Amino acid sequence: MLIVHKYGGTSVGTLERIENVASRVIAARDAGNDLVIVVSAMSGETNKLIDYATHFTKNPAKQEMDMLLSSGERVTAALLSIALQARGYDAVAMSGRQAGIVTDTTHTYARIESIDPSAMQKAIKEGKIIIVAGFQGINKEGKVTTLGRGGSDLSAVALAGALNADACEIYSDVDGIYTTDPRIEPKAKKLDTISYDEMLELASMGAKVLQNRSVELAKKLNVKLYAKSSFSDDAGTLITQESGNMEEVLVSGVVLDKNQARVTLRNVSDKPGIAAEIFTKLANEGINVDMIIQNVGVDGSTNLGFTVTESELEAAKKIMESFDHDIGSMDFDSAVCKVSVVGVGMKSHAGVAAQAFSALAANNINIQMISTSEIKVSMVIDEKYGELAIRMLHDAYNLDK
Ligand code: ADP
Ligand code: ASP
Ligand code: MG
Repeated sequence: MLIVHKYGGTSVGTLERIENVASRVIAARDAGNDLVIVVSAMSGETNKLIDYATHFTKNPAKQEMDMLLSSGERVTAALLSIALQARGYDAVAMSGRQAGIVTDTTHTYARIESIDPSAMQKAIKEGKIIIVAGFQGINKEGKVTTLGRGGSDLSAVALAGALNADACEIYSDVDGIYTTDPRIEPKAKKLDTISYDEMLELASMGAKVLQNRSVELAKKLNVKLYAKSSFSDDAGTLITQESGNMEEVLVSGVVLDKNQARVTLRNVSDKPGIAAEIFTKLANEGINVDMIIQNVGVDGSTNLGFTVTESELEAAKKIMESFDHDIGSMDFDSAVCKVSVVGVGMKSHAGVAAQAFSALAANNINIQMISTSEIKVSMVIDEKYGELAIRMLHDAYNLDK
């Protein structure tokens, strides 16, 4: 079989842990598999490099940031390859470019456009174990790009798709996908399987165990995706197509996103074009808007609220303050968080949202904003109640049972 493994920052965080990964790779090799191993930077390394850059300026050039950040993954790839060679195994380390990953020209958040697997296929034929530096590619101008935080997951899925691998296994410090982050709720239960769509909602709503774009791509390419631990031999969680009996489960998981900020605009002129103007300006600055809420206007004006990630609040604030017309007053709050309940069963069962609202009400937690999709209910609440809310919701849906 051809299997892609991906080892995250914690799994390769020290030389001993790289040695541990080498042992796991060797075991998979000795079992007769062809292997492509994608690695992250050692834990803390990417943040350290970002701190180095911001020592000089708050706004370093993105092209230079890609040059800088891509180095972290290359260090790990080379070290793991060296560790394998030292134990008598034929391995070769590749950068994103050498692995054939071509992206668009957006720096620090590039999209993969194509993959030329020929260099990898040649090395596999020669019997080599391939170690690829995750999180990076090259654009058509020949410049190094990176794929956004957590992007090594995406590298792994994309390579698995391009090589038509039999499975893609993402190794971290948890042995699978849980009903919620086990660091917040120790009673969280591990799931044996979860659908791509549910996993995509969980990841998009803040569960960083898998990068959301990697899940989206796995669904599109139908990659057999597993979340596993590099510290145990647990079978992990299979992320797969939705099957008939999945809908019997109302809620699969709950998730907390602390990295949220709320913008409220009051007495906004109730006329065509205002929302277009506001959100076009935000989009032009690359600011991602999540929840948007607007009510029916009264007396020619209305209120408009939306959320952005906390790190983009300052930029959003600047744009909003440049409006010298059509907005009465504005209010910004970064002390909010988003809690979400996810489950395919919501499609066919009523009352799931009401249950969430009741659970929060029973604990006197005020809901500031609500948004829903077919398989998700999200609520914005005061940041200080985030973890409590997660435990209450986990309990309300009996997820520990
Ligand atoms: P890596 O560095 O290997 O990429 P991450 O730190 O990105 O690993 O992801 C693993 C972490 O994700 C876990 O330590 C866990 O705290 C967190 N996590 C959040 N939500 C979940 C969930 N629903 N199931 C499992 N882990 C979760
Ligand atoms: N090292 C990068 C990050 O910390 C990419 C990754 O680990 O997947 O975001
Ligand atoms: Mg990760």
